[in-house]
Amino acid sequence: MATDTRAWEVTQAPSRREQVRAQAVAAIPWWYSPWGHLAFPSFVGLGVIAGSVALLEHPTPLELLAVPLVLVLVNLNEWNIHRNVLHQRTWPLEILFWRHTPEHHVIFVRDDMAMRATEEFRLVLIPFYGILAIFVSALPITAALWFLVSHNVALLWVATTMGYVVAYEWLHLSYHLPESNPIGRSPLIRWLRRHHAMHHTPELMQRWNFNVTVPLADWLLGTIHPD
Ligand SMILES: [Zn+2]
Ligand SMILES: [Zn+2]
Repeated sequence: MATDTRAWEVTQAPSRREQVRAQAVAAIPWWYSPWGHLAFPSFVGLGVIAGSVALLEHPTPLELLAVPLVLVLVNLNEWNIHRNVLHQRTWPLEILFWRHTPEHHVIFVRDDMAMRATEEFRLVLIPFYGILAIFVSALPITAALWFLVSHNVALLWVATTMGYVVAYEWLHLSYHLPESNPIGRSPLIRWLRRHHAMHHTPELMQRWNFNVTVPLADWLLGTIHPD
């Protein structure tokens, strides 16, 4: 049954938004390190990519085609997870819904997208162990490719998915930087940020702009908001 999200599909009063933000910030444990939270998936992801690439043995052009193919499939998966897990309560991943729809989307709205302090990385990044969970949950596919297709394709699959997770984290964080930040001023990031900011309109979030990286699946599936 679809989750009733109507209560969050309206822009909350500023006082209510401040209250949700204050509660979320107060829940950050004292040992939390924003730069550690950013560095962990980055180092894990880049390390796994380096290891996978080092193990490749003369990949053929056909094997290398796995990279663009996986990018398209993972982009569709990003759309699906965002729409159906982050915006709908889905067992056993309800925590992702609670951290996204009633929290991330209440705190950050289209005209107020910026984090106010580095500790607010915690309100934007996926949990630090997320990249490990994604690596492990992809292992059956990795094993199938390793044993049934080729070692190279399995390695390219691992490298591409890990690279995608790192790109997701970096891009999403960059959209929530203050507009004055040099990273947020580049034309590409500004274009992508506009796409994500539209999704941060509470009235539109359940229906439009589910890609956080490149809006390919949104384009293919007709969910790019007309504005
Ligand atoms: Zn966001
Ligand atoms: Zn969302």
